[in-house]
Amino acid sequence: MRIFVAIGISLCMLTPGPQSQTSKDQQAIRIWRSGSQPSRQGPAENFTGFVRVDPLFQANAPARASGSLVTFEPGARTAWHIHPLGQILIITAGTGRVQRWGDPLEEIRQGDVVWIPPGQKHWHGAEPNSSMAHIAIVEQLDGKAVDWMEKVSEAQYGEPLRAQGASTDAGAKPRPSQGAIGDFAPKLAELTDDVLYGDVWERPELSKRDRSLVTVAAPDKLRSHLIRARENGVTQEELVETITHLAFYCGWPNAVNAISVAKEVFEKQ
Ligand code: MN
Repeated sequence: MRIFVAIGISLCMLTPGPQSQTSKDQQAIRIWRSGSQPSRQGPAENFTGFVRVDPLFQANAPARASGSLVTFEPGARTAWHIHPLGQILIITAGTGRVQRWGDPLEEIRQGDVVWIPPGQKHWHGAEPNSSMAHIAIVEQLDGKAVDWMEKVSEAQYGEPLRAQGASTDAGAKPRPSQGAIGDFAPKLAELTDDVLYGDVWERPELSKRDRSLVTVAAPDKLRSHLIRARENGVTQEELVETITHLAFYCGWPNAVNAISVAKEVFEKQ
């Protein structure tokens, strides 16, 4: 017995194996020396203006976080985008802007730390007259850290900044109209977001599901209300029945038009 153990141990010592050597290397502390990683220009399809990206660290499985230093010239910014697991921005120089879709612009300054929650459409960039640099840290989900969308228009970039001292929690309620029509009809957007969606839709006397049944009964803005109604738990059968019932009250052509819009919306879902 003792002999077998001795042979076993000596065999282990003789054959360290490539795997154990590799994992030992991976566990060693690694230093990327300053200036050793080449910087690149932010690609034109994802950025407006001149943006320099200095990679800092890649995601090393099982870790999922990666980081880079991003420098925006005055007026430069990202396109709208989403991070599946969110993002941390540490502002290292200058003054810039950040905005979540539907919320007012926020000014960000050197030393500020910004958390972008997962799945939130947003952009970040420099002020028109100041450059801005931030360290951006993201985590990957299934190998993906960002979903790029459309560019930030001049009108969106030029929106007024959130009033100083205003609570960031004021944006907790959804402000869909601000993003959709805010730059064109700001008062209408404010009334829609603050009174209609912020107050009326939030009143507890009717559930959101029942309020959705009310809105699909009105032929206007039907497409968006059909989508909202499905999100609020109204079934496709209930919506078709509502439109069928309403044909007798708001006119046959309205009902036929509405049902073709509904068919299109449901087929897309
Ligand atoms: Mn981002």
